[in-house]
Amino acid sequence: MIASFPSNVTLHHLVEVLLDIDKQLANKVKAASCPYCGGNLNNAFYSRKPRGTVLEDMGYITRFSLCCRREGCRKRVLPPSTLFLGRTVYWSCIILVSVALQQLNVKTAEQIEKRFGVPLRTIRRWIAYYREQYLQSRSWFLRQGFIPLENVYSGAIGRLYHSFMKHHEPLSGLTSFVRFMGVDP
Ligand SMILES: [Zn+2]
Repeated sequence: MIASFPSNVTLHHLVEVLLDIDKQLANKVKAASCPYCGGNLNNAFYSRKPRGTVLEDMGYITRFSLCCRREGCRKRVLPPSTLFLGRTVYWSCIILVSVALQQLNVKTAEQIEKRFGVPLRTIRRWIAYYREQYLQSRSWFLRQGFIPLENVYSGAIGRLYHSFMKHHEPLSGLTSFVRFMGVDP
């Protein structure tokens, strides 16, 4: 069973690949127009420092963000991200992989804290979130069709992770899994 975090991939390298994906996602949204008024979009990037983990040393990371150029609209448009978990300041890759490994019974919350540097309280909160509220969310509604029905409610994130890792090379499996969870399919 392929279930643990692949030993030949570093989280730092994974983040570099995800940053590039985020840049492409932002370019795609920018090439379209403002969803509110149809105006052109400008870059309005900002820096964020994701919550402390073993990636603490990466410091500030670009959150690709856009802003409508049209006077009177000027709305901010936030492209999807594979780096940040939704609109939060958490590392998507770390939280999602942690929840998956816990659901697959590969790692306990204590082992996740040790391996990825996520505080115990934080990881327990995300584990509970993906076991309960997430399964009622629109995000999950859009994704649940991608895994067999009988698996939908039991350890769904772990099963998805396992499936991506089984069918891809390690790095590509990880990026595909994080992208699937972060960008509307
Ligand atoms: Zn606009």
